[in-house]
Amino acid sequence: MKTVQDYIRTIPDFPHEGIMFRDVTTLFNDPRGFRIAVDQLLHPYAGMQIDQVAGLEARGFIMGGAIAHQLSVGFLPIRKKGKLPGKTIEQAYQLEYGEAVVEVHDDALQPGDKVLLVDDLLATGGTAEAGIKLIERLGAEVIGCAFIIDLPELGGRKRLEAMGMDVHALCA
Ligand code: IMP
Repeated sequence: MKTVQDYIRTIPDFPHEGIMFRDVTTLFNDPRGFRIAVDQLLHPYAGMQIDQVAGLEARGFIMGGAIAHQLSVGFLPIRKKGKLPGKTIEQAYQLEYGEAVVEVHDDALQPGDKVLLVDDLLATGGTAEAGIKLIERLGAEVIGCAFIIDLPELGGRKRLEAMGMDVHALCA
């Protein structure tokens, strides 16, 4: 039987030469692949209190939205700067070249909310760390960080664990 990993393809030299891009659209595109990815990402959190699922733009919206629906809780989009219409708080983080900024509406969470953070892939952990900081700045608590893919050689898991985060991923 196919595993989650079997539904993901690697495209060489995208978006730049030398990058091996993990393409999860083939996983989302397959009804069984998508189903098992959602089920397996949720598995460790069974029985835990989760008030909101937060997804990182853009593929984190697809997984996070499906997971929020499954849990019957709300969904918080963590967006790239300039996309949200209301009052926001923003968090900058370092990219390989330069800086990026993500933001959330400043009224998106209640203090004390327990939040599950979701994205497709964990590499250096910079994007997830920025998301965690935004959630914590709103007074909420990140109870777990769930990814389809973890690239451990890029250090993201260690970085998030050093922040006290619980990290769950389905494949490397
Ligand atoms: P990090 O901030 O270095 O951990 O990079 C993770 C972010 O970059 C996530 O939001 C991913 O969606 C995106 N990303 C980096 N590499 C890949 C890839 O190979 N496939 C899909 N997304 C990627």
